Formats: sequence, C-alpha cells, structure tokens
Amino acid sequence: MKNKYSNWKFIKGTLLLAFVLFHVNTAFSQTIINKDPRIEAAVNEISTDNMMDNISGLLKFHTRHNLSTQSRTDFGIGAAATYLENKLKEYAKSDSRFTVERVNYKAGGAGTRLGREITLTNVVATIKGNSSDDRVIALLAHYDSRSEDNTDSTTYAPGANDDGSGVAALLEIARILAGKEFGATIKLMFLSGEEHGLLGAAHMAQLAQDEKWNLIAVLNNDMISNSHSSDTDIRNNSIVRVFSENIPFTENEAQARERLFNSAENDSPSRQLARYVKESGERYTHNLIVKLIYRNDRYGRGGDHTPFNRKGFTAVRICEFYENYDRTHQKTEVRDGKQYGDVIEGVDFEYLRKNTSVNLSSLMNLALAPYEPLNVSTNVSSLSNFTDISWKEPVKGPKPDGYYLLIRDTDSPIWQKKIFVKGTEIKVPLSKDNYFFGVQSVSEKGNESLPVFSKGVR
Ligand SMILES: [Zn+2]
Repeated sequence: MKNKYSNWKFIKGTLLLAFVLFHVNTAFSQTIINKDPRIEAAVNEISTDNMMDNISGLLKFHTRHNLSTQSRTDFGIGAAATYLENKLKEYAKSDSRFTVERVNYKAGGAGTRLGREITLTNVVATIKGNSSDDRVIALLAHYDSRSEDNTDSTTYAPGANDDGSGVAALLEIARILAGKEFGATIKLMFLSGEEHGLLGAAHMAQLAQDEKWNLIAVLNNDMISNSHSSDTDIRNNSIVRVFSENIPFTENEAQARERLFNSAENDSPSRQLARYVKESGERYTHNLIVKLIYRNDRYGRGGDHTPFNRKGFTAVRICEFYENYDRTHQKTEVRDGKQYGDVIEGVDFEYLRKNTSVNLSSLMNLALAPYEPLNVSTNVSSLSNFTDISWKEPVKGPKPDGYYLLIRDTDSPIWQKKIFVKGTEIKVPLSKDNYFFGVQSVSEKGNESLPVFSKGVR
C-alpha cells in the first residue's frame, strides 16, 4: 500500500515537473544555444570583398549564356567555367582532400530549348570526408546567365544576382573550407544549363543515382543577394526563404499510407532539412530570419534542387525573400531613368554575407555530425498519456555522444523542444496524439544529424 502511494507521488511529481518545464519554456521561449567554435570561426571568415571580386570577375565575360562561345578566354560561358576552375584550384592549394573536376555532359538537340546539341560543363569541387564515412552533402549554384531573350547568346547578361550571388557564396565557402577536415564528403557544384531547363542539375542528380551516392542533403542557392522588391519597393535584408517540397515527388503507395497513418504531410525529409537550415542558420547568423516556405519553389518557376527531389534526394532551395523583377531576366538598359538588368549594383553584399553564413553553418554542422539514428519509432500499441519513443544507434560512423528528442505541437512549423538523451529510448508524460516527435544524433561538440521523424509502430 505504502509502495503504491509513493509510486503515485513519484508519477505526480514527474508530471508536475514536466508540466512546469514545458509551460515555463514555451512562455518565455528561452533556449540555450551552444555554438561550435569551429563553425563560429569559419562564419567570421566570410569576406564580402572576396564575393565582390568574384562577381566582378564573372561579369567580365559579358554573358554566361549556355549557347555562348566556349573557345574564347575573355568572353562567354567557357571562360566563366575556366575562371571557376582556376579559383577553386587556387583555394584547394596543398589540401589533398580537395579536388576540382569538370563534369561535361551533352545537352539540347533539335526541338529543345537550346535548339541544338552542345556540350556543357559543370565545375565540381569535392572535399573528401573520412574514408569510413560515405555521406555526401551538396551545395548548388548555377553559373549560366541570360538576358530577356533566352535565345540570344551574345547580349550582355551579367547575372550578378541570378546566380552570381550563389556562385560567389559557394566560392567563398570553398575558400574557407580548404584545409579543414569533416566526416562527410562535401560537394560544391557550379552548374550550367539552369536557364535552359535545369540541365546541369539533372545530369548531377542522375550521376548521384547511378553511382549510388549516399547523398543526405542538397542546398540549392539561386538568387540570394537581392533585398529590394520591385513594385512594392520594400527594402529588407533580414529575411531569407527556404523552399522545400511537402510530399516527396517520389512517394509510393506504401509511403503514402504510412504518411496518412502518422499525419506526417509536413514531415518530408526535405522539410526536416529546411528546419535544420533554419535552426543552424539562425544559430550562427545574427539579424536574419530563415523563413520556411511550404512549396517546392515559386509558382511556375524551378530551380536546381528539383531534379534532385525528383530522384528522391533530400533537397531545398535557399532564395531571397523579396525579388526584383526589374532585374531578373531583363535586358540591361536604362529606360525612363530606371536601371533594368541583373547588374552588380543590385547585389546587397551584407545580405549575401548572411545567406552565405546560413549555408556554411548548416553545411559544417551536418558534415561534423554523426549518422542519423535508425528505426526511430513511437509505440502506439496502447492507450496511455505517456509516450515511449525508441531508436537504434547508427551502424556507421563515430558513435553519437547522445541524441535529441525533438518535440513540437502538431500545428507548429518548427521543433519546439529538444531533450538530450544518453540512451536509445525515452518515456515522456505527453500524449502521442498531441505532439510530433523526432530524434537526431548529436556529437560531443553538439553537431546534430538531420532529424528523423518518429513513426507510429503498433
Ligand atoms: Zn537562377
């Protein structure tokens, strides 16, 4: 009798404590942020001067149109590819883990947007991780450009923001990462063919599938430096979008049934990656809100992450919040006293620096993290107001220091609570019906894997 009573007292105490902790925490929204000094130092190395030099460097080639000449050294897309290759090799210096390659592919043909068949080049920098780690993380930007008429391969097409900004961010990240060591392999992809149907990205996604890469995350950067909206004249460089697909393109019938059972329509792997970018990006970048957009991309417009999504990879797009349609895909000219075209004057370098920081911090945090936990599941076999969540230790890579149980309300876009767990199971006094749960592995230094959504198991 006495025993039963003290048990009840203990449970009551636990419930009360959990209730108080939960409500105090949500009421004041206080979180302890532990920063990894390695990531903080790297973010501090980002130089707007370097990014300005690199965008100016690309603009010297007049156009980077996909049909422009590849035989000149001072004009056209061929010269731009050589510029990127040389810059990357200069950054790679004596780092034997850092390699640069040209990935050529056939594109176009009669009846296509290109009109004829040509060979295009993707320039890819690879920073090899540990030999026992097969994970790959990719950052994308496209270096081709266009003017108003997409068949015109000679008109001035600076593409300073679209996508000189993404290219400058990736070059700066390459410079900073050279000489540093990571578990996962990092690939920085400078893609061509974007403006004629995402051709360079489609080639890389196919290659990743054919060669069975364990590609765990793809961050596409396309237009990340404009902070001034046309039409509505808003100036704001403290918010950036992350687009992610809701329901995966490749979902099959069994996966659809499982999604319905779990009400997990807001928990695709790409959505988890978007949340991850928000959390790690905001952790290391002041004065910036990373806004999740619940769409794969903008209306009727695509980006290089999409061919990766279509192959079943986890991929998101990072993009400025406000677009300027006087600059995008416009002829460079002054009309009625107003500048049109994608000129370097439209690049907000402080905004570009912050968005580069979001990329660099997310990338490093993930590349330094342990593998994800396996078989993450919520026991839904019994009726209880307690919930049991369990998982298995990853079989590859270094052993995690522990795990975070992630909790959020079913109507919350982001994970709200993180509970550190040493073992591989936890019981919480919260009903499984009222919350979503996820688990991520964490290293000793606090680097988290991507969250794995906890699925109900009977
Ligand atoms: Zn673009």
